[in-house]
Amino acid sequence: MTPLARRLRELIACEGPISFERYMALALSDPDHGYYMTRDPLGEAGDFVTAPEISQMFGELLGVWAADLWRRMGAPDPVRLIELGPGRGTLMKDALRAARACPGFLQACDVHLVEISPALAERQRRTLAGAAPAIAWSASIEAVPEGPAIIFANEFFDALPVRHYVRLERGWSERLVGTDETGAFAFGAAGEPEPGIVAEAPLGAVIELGAEARLFAERIARRLQAQGGALLILDYGYERPRFGETLQAVRRHARADILADPGEVDLTAHVDFYALARAAGAAGARVFGPIEQGTFLRRLGIEERAARLKQGASADQIRSIEDALARLVDPNRPDRPGMGELFKVLAVTAPDCPAPAGFEEANA
Ligand code: SAH
Repeated sequence: MTPLARRLRELIACEGPISFERYMALALSDPDHGYYMTRDPLGEAGDFVTAPEISQMFGELLGVWAADLWRRMGAPDPVRLIELGPGRGTLMKDALRAARACPGFLQACDVHLVEISPALAERQRRTLAGAAPAIAWSASIEAVPEGPAIIFANEFFDALPVRHYVRLERGWSERLVGTDETGAFAFGAAGEPEPGIVAEAPLGAVIELGAEARLFAERIARRLQAQGGALLILDYGYERPRFGETLQAVRRHARADILADPGEVDLTAHVDFYALARAAGAAGARVFGPIEQGTFLRRLGIEERAARLKQGASADQIRSIEDALARLVDPNRPDRPGMGELFKVLAVTAPDCPAPAGFEEANA
């Protein structure tokens, strides 16, 4: 049994079944035993691989995107360049290197990484040792000083806990986690249905609510509305509201049991882009997209960048550049995993912010 499983069992023995949302929050970010708090889960040797780990092109394009947006915004100085949940720090490292080509931008940048995991913050410090400009770390975005901001969030929103409601005879009941006769974790449902949910759906249907993701989007949108700037969300998810759960547990690149070994497996849910866009819009921000990641990266010139990198590269390097390009922009196929279609990109900006690169054709 994992140390966190022991603690959760004690908690349930004491308080009764807990909400699934709380279970997920503790599984991921319990200060002592949470999944992200204790390890570096990224890379081939870890549990999953993200776009910045697939290719330097990803962070480079986002660095140039940010510098270009800064210029479109009228080159505010200082500008806070912020990343939420920076993993190994690879995206920021590649972004800062590429942005050197944009005069004045790095000089104006005040860089902040928002990270709750001490283990990953340490990894980021190593990746970014000697980076210019100097980097500050915070545990929350509220700790980042005021002012115009350009914010990246790659595979951040999928890591926030979700709440589930299950349609039962008695109505929509929040999904709980308790223990069964053998002591294993098991799903249950709250005795009292949720009076606020009136949706019609067959018995057994599930509503997945990313309440914390919405709150994040809303808080950031309010900041951007008042102080200027933009948030770029890149993540796997869907564009239209829908029923059904998308929760998944992953360990060493394979699906795992959701309730087995809390703290040892990654738990994520697809991002409800519709809900994030609505929350940000209601908070006074402007919203661009979502558009597919493949479309976005092509518009930023990933094919040209790949062609440049291939010049003077060895045959092996050329093959790996082509593989990385395909993985980032192509749709998913059984024989070849691709992020181009499932992954979406949403920009949330201050109301007076010009359209960011890649979104000129998107409806605001
Ligand atoms: N963006 C990185 C890592 C994605 S994994 C990449 O693309 O490679 C999710 C990241 O978000 C991890 O760094 C994790 O520690 C961090 N994280 C999760 N919940 C967080 C929270 N509430 N606040 C800040 N960081 C968080």
